[in-house]
Amino acid sequence: MGEVIRFKRPKPGEKHKGRGLCANGFHKWAADGKTVFDVKQGRLVTRLVCERCGAVKVQGR
Ligand SMILES: [Zn+2]
Repeated sequence: MGEVIRFKRPKPGEKHKGRGLCANGFHKWAADGKTVFDVKQGRLVTRLVCERCGAVKVQGR
């Protein structure tokens, strides 16, 4: 007894960290600095790209 238990467990999600979040819809959106013209909406929208998986979405207003 008396041993110091060290919490030295390796992080299981380190190899593909963030992927689980993306899979669950929690993307890390970052604006790519461009505004694109959405023809469907007929107006300018901001394009967002996920830094982890590269998914793209547009953010209208
Ligand atoms: Zn993502």
